[in-house]
Amino acid sequence: MNYRHAFHAGNFADLVKHAAVALIMDRLTVTPGPLLVVDTHAGAGLYDLGSEMAKRSGEAEAGVLKLMADPGAPEALRSLKAAVWAVNDAKDVRRYPGSPVLIAGRLRQSDEYVGAELRADDFEAVNAALKGAKGKARAVHADGYDLLKSRAADPRRLFVLIDPPFEKPDDYDRILEALKPVLARRTPATALVWLPLKDLETFDAFLRGLEALDPPSVLAVEARLRPLTDPMRMNGCALVILGPPPRIEPDLKAVADWVVGAAGGAGAVAKLWALNPA
Ligand code: SAM
Repeated sequence: MNYRHAFHAGNFADLVKHAAVALIMDRLTVTPGPLLVVDTHAGAGLYDLGSEMAKRSGEAEAGVLKLMADPGAPEALRSLKAAVWAVNDAKDVRRYPGSPVLIAGRLRQSDEYVGAELRADDFEAVNAALKGAKGKARAVHADGYDLLKSRAADPRRLFVLIDPPFEKPDDYDRILEALKPVLARRTPATALVWLPLKDLETFDAFLRGLEALDPPSVLAVEARLRPLTDPMRMNGCALVILGPPPRIEPDLKAVADWVVGAAGGAGAVAKLWALNPA
């Protein structure tokens, strides 16, 4: 496994994903009843934007650094901005919270977060980043799809984040397989899948596979930074949300619009649509 999220922390794709995670968590934690969050690919938890890796890619420039400097950013990004300020002491944006830290900061006493990370170094880092979570949040050194399979029938309400590096061609199939027990649950679940947008057929093939599972309600959010003419580049990203909280659409669209405006070029566009409209 070569992928290191530290190269990409706080980039445009992180903003789309993490703003959605914050919006979903904010909604799920005002509803009574305990919540279990399963994060299949946890990463390192907290990222130093001044590190060699972050500086080498420079991806945070058009992402979180632009966001934090924009007083006119939409309200829908406020929750993510607050989470970024919470891990930075002064006006200087030096650190960026990954999904484990972002989610752990929103848990109530009754809630639990468990994230899986396969890399030994990032596993150590994420557990260190979760030290302050007082046992409500922890990472396991395990395969994330297996973790989800073992926890999908938990009786509590469930929020699942599936955010693989897509280094291996079987990630798309493993996501669909991992979603089956989530869709079979009796108690409510929300699942957020992050996907790269390179060419449209790869995305469409995933959606066809998902449709075959007959999910009850699915939202797709696309942030395209440019037309998808070169399939060798990451031209944007998409979120596919199963069981989205009610009335979240305008906020997600506002997030994607801001991100493509900040990081996109000619032909950039944000789209939000329902896979199976009522
Ligand atoms: N979700 C994180 C966030 O938003 O901050 C970022 C996750 S990053 C895109 C993907 C991570 O998954 C990498 O740290 C990688 O080492 C890890 N990984 C790759 N395959 C895995 C697997 N099968 N199970 C668990 N972790 C895996």
